[in-house]
Amino acid sequence: MSRRTTVLTDDLYDYFLEVSLRESDVLRRLREETARLEKAQMQISPEQGQFMTLVVKLIGARQALEIGTFTGYSALCVAQALPDDGKLIACDIDEEWPSFGMRYWAEAGVRERIEFRSGPAIETLSDLIHEGLEETFDFIFIDADKRGLDDYYQMSLRLVRRGGLIAVDNTLWHGKVADDAVHDDDTMAIRGFNARVIDDDRVDLSLVPIGDGLTLLRKR
Ligand code: SAM
Ligand code: CA
Repeated sequence: MSRRTTVLTDDLYDYFLEVSLRESDVLRRLREETARLEKAQMQISPEQGQFMTLVVKLIGARQALEIGTFTGYSALCVAQALPDDGKLIACDIDEEWPSFGMRYWAEAGVRERIEFRSGPAIETLSDLIHEGLEETFDFIFIDADKRGLDDYYQMSLRLVRRGGLIAVDNTLWHGKVADDAVHDDDTMAIRGFNARVIDDDRVDLSLVPIGDGLTLLRKR
């Protein structure tokens, strides 16, 4: 009986993918094209994408929001889990990277489900609040600049419905959060978020050690 999370060696990780990863052809091609970009490491891993697809289906989400889209891999994972009349609002400060992913969204038949909004996330989230969309989202994925994390989390708590889910990416931050010698702004932002959220009684939570750490927070 195991008392801690199993560490994934390279061999075990290969096995894990071999026996559980079901990545569609469209997702694989989007990942391969993204891999040629300098910033490719920003994309979530395929097993995390598959996990998010499953979670979004499990909670029966219809309205979803993504903060930080990059080339659209995670957006496609979420959108394909929504019903035909479901909607994902995906936002990014950059317009070029998401436009790259839009071709794949179309190919996967989910382009109509995704509304892309460009601009700083803080402005997009304020707009959504002013449009009367508080407490309407079933699922929100936070994966933009880490310095904005606290603001994105507080605004997401207003936008998500009771019983809805917020997923915060990179909460293990390649181990830097647990290294006292590291004090850069991004690490401090994630470390601070992790330290505060464990005492946040507005949510139930679990930090899932998949990808670079994915904290799931269910609004009470
Ligand atoms: N979720 C994406 C995926 O898995 O493929 C990866 C997102 S990437 C880690 C972070 C994204 O946040 C980048 O595309 C970047 O342009 C965007 N970003 C950075 N600062 C932002 C801001 N202030 N507002 C909105 N998006 C921002
Ligand atoms: Ca990420």
